[in-house]
Amino acid sequence: MTMVKIIVIEDEAHIREEVMEWLQFEGYHIVGAPNGRMGLAAIQREQPELILCDVSMPEMDGHEVLIAVRSDPDLSHIPFVFLTASADRDAIRKGMNLGADDYLTKPFTHSEVLNAIRSILQKKALLDSRVQNQMNSLNMALTEEREKRLLKSRLVAMFSHDFRNPLTSILSSSSILRNYNDRLTPERKQQQFDRIDGSVHLLIQMLDEMLVAAEIEGGHLELAPELVDLTVFTEPIIEEFRLIDHDAHQFLFQSTLNTPIMGDPKLLRHIISNLISNAIKYSPSQTQITIFLMGQDGVVQLIVEDQGIGIPDESLSHLFEPFHRAANARSVKGTGLGLSIAKQAIDLHGGSITVESVVNQGTRFTVYLPSHLPQERM
Ligand code: ATP
Ligand code: MG
Repeated sequence: MTMVKIIVIEDEAHIREEVMEWLQFEGYHIVGAPNGRMGLAAIQREQPELILCDVSMPEMDGHEVLIAVRSDPDLSHIPFVFLTASADRDAIRKGMNLGADDYLTKPFTHSEVLNAIRSILQKKALLDSRVQNQMNSLNMALTEEREKRLLKSRLVAMFSHDFRNPLTSILSSSSILRNYNDRLTPERKQQQFDRIDGSVHLLIQMLDEMLVAAEIEGGHLELAPELVDLTVFTEPIIEEFRLIDHDAHQFLFQSTLNTPIMGDPKLLRHIISNLISNAIKYSPSQTQITIFLMGQDGVVQLIVEDQGIGIPDESLSHLFEPFHRAANARSVKGTGLGLSIAKQAIDLHGGSITVESVVNQGTRFTVYLPSHLPQERM
């Protein structure tokens, strides 16, 4: 621990020396000065933790020293204690008004001096730690802001990159259709149309994802809840995916849910779409994708299960972080955003999501949604 440095400014030598001796004995590092001018020079040179200063002195009195200290940004934080003659009531008031932290009236005892110094240093330490705490939380907020900005620019970069592929597919299909119209068999034509349809679907999905991501990031996402019959709601979404998937997978949909829930359709669609699109992306064709809906005690469960590549253990705890993609998923295209957005949408509904997975066997995501929203959100 470094020694606490204290400057004692006092023109009466015997008082100065006595105080210096007491404080040295207590382990403080003491610098003495016989008048205000030299005292100020010592303060500037030593940058002490505390100043003890007589009021009436030749050359430069204590008030002038205090004014000089308080008006210097490098010194203004240093606690300042006056040593005054007891009769000097006006001087005391003036000193406190000028911003002194305390005063000791002469003659003072050993313990008066020590107690005053200890309590002032304690107060100062408390204040410093409060300031430090505030600085820390400010810094944290700044870092968070910076991360958000980074996330946003990554988002923009990624989507503008990913938008090119489907757009290129659409362009190439339409030019094939235009240029080779009379030479294409009906099946080949159908293939090109399907490719256009698929790309448009993909673009719509990406656009949707980007908008929800931007809304969530900006903190602007307002839940617009309404009564939703999840069974009726989910069917056409699965149908849409079945089309895009060209029946590569077998879809099985089972629902025992027969009461509607309160939820935001846009976000619910997002949650369901993301889970199904992952199941399709991360499982080989000819395997089965199962979607279950059930309800119990005011909680709805949505389960999406596949027989795909699975998720390695080390990724399970990072799955819902933005941009996290598992090592075994690198060959499949993706931004790593789908689940993080789905998770936030689920959180907004006061729900939760869990995942169980075995590598090379399959994955099951379970979403729990309260059938009624938490009170404050309604
Ligand atoms: P996108 O933003 O296009 O959805 P993504 O699918 O990579 O990209 P997420 O949906 O957030 O991103 O999924 C994150 C990661 O979780 C995936 O990259 C993959 O590693 C893993 N994952 C998600 N769902 C499955 C699944 N059903 N089977 C295996 N791995 C999965
Ligand atoms: Mg995904």
